[in-house]
Amino acid sequence: MRIASLGSGSRGNATLVQHGSTTILVDNGFSLRQFSQRLQRLEIEPCGIDAVLLTHEHGDHSGGVQRLCSNHGIPLWTAVGTARAALSPDFEYHGLVAGRAVTIGELEVLPVTVPHDASEPLQFIFHQLDGGRRLGVLTDTGHITSHIVEAFDRLDGLLLEFNYDPEMLAKGPYPEMLKQRVGGNHGHLSNLQSLDLLRQIDTGNLGCLIAAHISEKNNAPEIVEALIRQLDDVPVPVIAHQDAGFDWITV
Ligand SMILES: [Zn+2]
Ligand SMILES: [Zn+2]
Repeated sequence: MRIASLGSGSRGNATLVQHGSTTILVDNGFSLRQFSQRLQRLEIEPCGIDAVLLTHEHGDHSGGVQRLCSNHGIPLWTAVGTARAALSPDFEYHGLVAGRAVTIGELEVLPVTVPHDASEPLQFIFHQLDGGRRLGVLTDTGHITSHIVEAFDRLDGLLLEFNYDPEMLAKGPYPEMLKQRVGGNHGHLSNLQSLDLLRQIDTGNLGCLIAAHISEKNNAPEIVEALIRQLDDVPVPVIAHQDAGFDWITV
């Protein structure tokens, strides 16, 4: 199984997970043109994508999903609450329910419910049907719940949000309302909250860690990297960039 990103952050997200002949896209916050340009870097065509999973309706994740799916006839999977908030009423999709795994090609996908200020936000765990390796994707989460700790335990790969440094957010340029939203219980994960998750889960099998959805105004990759390096048993993180994303990483 492998994972790549076309970009990660509040200006647009799109993540690809591939195993065998199956390619799944998680979210697309980019215009069709931007998406195609970024996809070329990975030498994939839009028609090579087997399914799109939509985590929630915020524009940095959903902005380009409906057009991409309808233009290229790609099936879309999402929760009913997200569909109501993000899609045209007559747009067809496959319904996802938290805790109920679905099989897409050679991957099993487990949707996990997370606390975020959206209608029915989900994050995902991918399980390759042969070989059993598991990869988790967790961004846009306000705090770590015991449910999340249980679901994201003992993974082989993890893409994890490190959204903000609490001090930088407090002193930063965001208006007070937005600071409270980002830092609130249904906002985003701070560096310390994500570090706390890494301390709570068993990371013995974790071969790759990707730090994602890093705020450009309220955080810095060097801070994230330095914090993660303090932990034992956790690999040096790959940084997911807003513009460059990251190239294929094998899990
Ligand atoms: Zn987001
Ligand atoms: Zn969001």
